[in-house]
Amino acid sequence: MQYGAQRVSDINLSQVRKMFEQASPTAINLALGEPDFDTPKHIIDALKNALDEGYTHYSQNKGEVKLRETIVDKLKKDNNINTTADNVILTVGASEALYSTVNALIDPKDDVLIPDPGFLSYREVVKIAGANPVALKTSAENGFNTTLDDVENTVTENTKAMIINSPANPTGSVMPKDEIKAIAEFADENDIIIISDEIYEKIIYDKKHYSFQAYTDNAVTINGFSKAYAMTGLRVGYLSACSEIIDEVLKVHQYNVACIDTATQIAATEALTGPQQCVSDMTSEFRKRRDLVVDSLYDMGVECIRPDGAFYVFFKQDNPDEFIQKALKEDVVLVNGNAFGEMGEGYIRLSYAQSYENLQTAMERLAKIA
Ligand code: PMP
Repeated sequence: MQYGAQRVSDINLSQVRKMFEQASPTAINLALGEPDFDTPKHIIDALKNALDEGYTHYSQNKGEVKLRETIVDKLKKDNNINTTADNVILTVGASEALYSTVNALIDPKDDVLIPDPGFLSYREVVKIAGANPVALKTSAENGFNTTLDDVENTVTENTKAMIINSPANPTGSVMPKDEIKAIAEFADENDIIIISDEIYEKIIYDKKHYSFQAYTDNAVTINGFSKAYAMTGLRVGYLSACSEIIDEVLKVHQYNVACIDTATQIAATEALTGPQQCVSDMTSEFRKRRDLVVDSLYDMGVECIRPDGAFYVFFKQDNPDEFIQKALKEDVVLVNGNAFGEMGEGYIRLSYAQSYENLQTAMERLAKIA
């Protein structure tokens, strides 16, 4: 008997997790996309107080009004998006925002453009919806950035949506304003929805982040607290969109999770309204680590782009599998770029969400095998 539904049986489990499981417990893990910082204390205190104050019951399906209003203010201030609390849904991380959005908007006959190389979940979530992921290819020649030309050359007559991720996992590329604007206009003219994953918004170095939703109603903004506030395990994210989209997404969200953890919503409100120094401190530390990794790779004669955002370096290798196995023997865990799509062939992803000291040791070990 085949237990798995057709849609699910050919879904791949994450290769990043697989790499992690192969490693020895003492290995330096440069595979996982998870900030190593502790969640800032004022956020933890808010969570503890929320539990003491009895925030242990259901909230509204869309989430607590206070946090949604706080997000509305944030979207106005940081992203130039004008919206209301009714147009925001709080989700179990950006992951659930992505899952609920895709499952609410996409039919099996639809094509969905997904970045290649791109975050592993995009392809699989589109497949779980029974729809067809179409690779929106980017390459090192244009800094792994998606351009309007790329979109125009890839779009099909069945394209219902495109997923875009800037700053990007796994390449760290950041899209410029003119490209965001041009793709937003294209989406408007062609009735295509942009699902914009902005989870790395705050981890950006010399460039500025822009949101599609500032330019078109055909965009869903997905964001969360995992990366900016080192809150991965608290599982809180959100999406913002026009009412027509929110009404549909709410159906999937409601019947999937009812609502997210209520006490965590209080902690997330504190994250947005409390001191923001923790965010800039973490980002400056990430910048130092990026420079350490990139400079060490350059010293080894390895080719890579110095990324503008997120916490990954995507570097070139003729034989990635061999390099990764040698690195594993040196107790350093990396991920093959081909896990992120065909265009990741010949690359390796290194996550520098690890302490500076561990990165120094890891780079010394990699220098031995490069
Ligand atoms: N989008 C991207 C591009 C990611 O890299 C990740 C986490 N690795 C997520 C979404 C999921 O984030 P969350 O913890 O908020 O579910």
